[in-house]
Amino acid sequence: MYERAEARIDLGALRHNCGALRSRLAPGVELCPVLKADGYGHGAAHCAPVVAASGADRIAVATAREAARIRELVPGMPLLVLGALAPGEIDLAVATGTDIAAWEPGFIDALADRAGVAGREVGVHLKYDTGMGRLGCADPEAVLEMARKISGSPGLSLQALWTHFATADEPDPSFRDLQRDRLSELGDRLRDEHPRLMLHAANSAAMIADRGTHFDLVRPGVGIYGMDPFGRDPLDHDLRPALSLHSYVAAVKRLEPGMSVGYGRTWTADRPTLIATVPVGYGDGVRRGLSNRGEVLIAGRRYPIAGTISMDNLAVAIGSEPEIGIGEEVTLIGSQGDGRITAEEVARTLETINYEITCGISPRVPRQGTGDPGTAEVPTVPVPGESA
Ligand SMILES: *Cc1c(COP(=O)(O)O)cnc(C)c1O
Repeated sequence: MYERAEARIDLGALRHNCGALRSRLAPGVELCPVLKADGYGHGAAHCAPVVAASGADRIAVATAREAARIRELVPGMPLLVLGALAPGEIDLAVATGTDIAAWEPGFIDALADRAGVAGREVGVHLKYDTGMGRLGCADPEAVLEMARKISGSPGLSLQALWTHFATADEPDPSFRDLQRDRLSELGDRLRDEHPRLMLHAANSAAMIADRGTHFDLVRPGVGIYGMDPFGRDPLDHDLRPALSLHSYVAAVKRLEPGMSVGYGRTWTADRPTLIATVPVGYGDGVRRGLSNRGEVLIAGRRYPIAGTISMDNLAVAIGSEPEIGIGEEVTLIGSQGDGRITAEEVARTLETINYEITCGISPRVPRQGTGDPGTAEVPTVPVPGESA
């Protein structure tokens, strides 16, 4: 432990998860891991080379800047930007050579214009809103019109019709099935005119729950990182958590009954108690909502967080365990001995989802790659602000 806090990224787990998800696909279906939000907080610089060497056919992100960054890390990899692009992002996306999502005639015109100026051909993934009600066009006739517009625009090439599920993580499949069937029906109509058109829909939950959602390409995000899209145990789907979060015991002190710890005095000792101070806090993304509710692992055992989590520190009540000394490793997410705290458990305590837990680990926490990445090469391009 050379840092006050660090997130360890198990590159072997990332590689394993790519293989485990790939093994669910029929031959010819593309695997397109989603590396948005700095690889769901795991560090895109660690994730991109590993997924590229572990069977990814392309990589998806949400923004133009994210695409430009992945382009530096894995230069030859086909990319796809899933999100909406503001006018000021279009030129960067075009220059990056990423495929781009579109669902508005005005945007398609702007894209054709910028592609022409840059002298590039841009692949377009036409987004059909089959029920998410967010981005995409919900009117099938308007989608058909836009498909014609794209294929008639020099500088643009129509690559795919795609959609996104609203309820793929829920037990009731009926709305997911409806969305899948809507995509399938419109896809059949479009393929009369555009025989090489790809269809895609599946996020991690859908690709695990229903092979019928795979179409020509799947877009798993959370599963790539070894988290469970259903919020339960990732090991149930042969997914291995890639991220663990660690700090250390910086101080140990004894509180007598009636003495308190932390801002607001929300925790008071009712008997003589040892308190370990761990120099990690909400400034690192350890959410304040875990105050007096979360647990950590020290020496393979669970201990409760005591008092209010502050920006740079939290306190742990270690009872009367004199064997826990300064320097002992503290695990906030991950395993120690038989003890295991998953991002899913932390999410349940906070009444949120595992996605938000890893995305919320702040840039102050260095990401350290561990484990065997297989044949992946380490990044050749230095990445500013990233401790690779
Ligand atoms: C984030 C995202 C995904 C990945 O979803 P997971 O639930 O993390 O697998 C897929 N498609 C789109 C459009 C997304 O925004």
